[in-house]
Amino acid sequence: MTSNSLRDADIAYTLHPYTNAVAHEQSGPMVAMRGKGVRVYDDAGKDYIEGMAGLWCTSLGWGEDRLVDAATRQMKELAYYHSFNHKATEPGIRLAETLVQMAPVPMSKAFFCNSGSEANDTAIKMIWYYHNAIGKPEKKKIIARLRGYHGVTVAAASLTGLPLNQKGFDLPIERILHTSCPHHYRYGEAGETEEDFASRMAADLEALIEREGPDTIAAFFAEPVMGAGGVIVPPKTYFEKIQPILKKHDILFVADEVICGFGRTGKMFGTETFGLQPDIMTMAKALSSAYLPISAVLINETVYQGIRSGSDALGAFGHGYTYSAHPVAAAVANETLAIYEERDMLGHVNSVSPRMQERLRALADHPLVGEARGIGLIGAVELVADKATKENFDPARKVGPSVAAKAQNNGVILRAMAGDIIAFSPPLVISTAEIDEMFDRFGAALDTQAEAMG
Ligand code: PLP
Repeated sequence: MTSNSLRDADIAYTLHPYTNAVAHEQSGPMVAMRGKGVRVYDDAGKDYIEGMAGLWCTSLGWGEDRLVDAATRQMKELAYYHSFNHKATEPGIRLAETLVQMAPVPMSKAFFCNSGSEANDTAIKMIWYYHNAIGKPEKKKIIARLRGYHGVTVAAASLTGLPLNQKGFDLPIERILHTSCPHHYRYGEAGETEEDFASRMAADLEALIEREGPDTIAAFFAEPVMGAGGVIVPPKTYFEKIQPILKKHDILFVADEVICGFGRTGKMFGTETFGLQPDIMTMAKALSSAYLPISAVLINETVYQGIRSGSDALGAFGHGYTYSAHPVAAAVANETLAIYEERDMLGHVNSVSPRMQERLRALADHPLVGEARGIGLIGAVELVADKATKENFDPARKVGPSVAAKAQNNGVILRAMAGDIIAFSPPLVISTAEIDEMFDRFGAALDTQAEAMG
């Protein structure tokens, strides 16, 4: 119901990310005009429950005045300053201090960027720089996982293990490798337990390392819960089995906390939920509740020491962004973290997430649903043509996108991902009543789809 002039101008002038440009010329945009709590409203005034918190990010929902006030105060005081060449601002200093202190494993320094992709690109550059500095220039290859998602800049898109992000872009770049995707439902063999499957995943990783030569492998990147690849919760014992292999071969572990960070899985970081011991953590999204773009890379003391000596030998650590530690974004992030603490956001997540998981798992009985999975306030349903054989629908039928479109018609915005997987990742402030409303609206869409398919 977008007004014609806005619709036409959008079609005429915008190239949309993650959008089929041909289809967009027909459909036009959904124009979001305002938001309040877990809802956004389009230009016809229709309300939608934002079941994805935008892009897994608007943790505090819309209309949080404290974040507006924090930004306004900082804009009036010092709207911009940079952090190159020994410069700093108070919000940036405070944010680095808070993040290092709240890290679930010992971390030494925080480096700021503007997006999750930049944080992961930065982590790769740090890892290469570190290995040059410590005299191991051959240790440069990086392993990520098929269906992992780490962003879309050239190096981050190379880490990402999804065809859509690489096809047509001449990616991945060299020195980035992918190991198996630990999705038990999809890749587990008949009768294979989660634990046995996890052992097989660990063996795959070790075989890849041996094949390539352990002395050439620098780092392993993993999201605690894989997000955009389909909301894949690691199978039991997976990280327990992966981490000793990394240690044994002196491979740095990067936890990509861009989605999981700040409460999504029921603990402050996915690192805690799954007992990880990363050397580097990347974070973004809920760091500022997405009110302004900001991301961070946390590095431990070992990595810092390497970069420290490298920067001394080369004259400076020659990396950084105009907006690294932007004071307004940092002030909003500081306020976001203060709100999490004062309002006991973790307590809230743990009080409402059982309802979310109960409603989600109830969908497993639906004729179109093969698996319903999740943890905390993140989850997904995977739609299948045959529940017994787990056979997928022909992608040309676009069953997932069609269900997401019906859900949007019913007033709930969700994300259809490759493999007809529908993701749920609502604002962390969602109430149980709103969770029920979200699943009621979605369930009706799923029923309509099932009826249409006969
Ligand atoms: N890492 C993960 C786990 C993500 O989910 C995303 C984005 O969804 C990114 C990195 C990239 O972040 P951005 O889109 O801010 O570049």
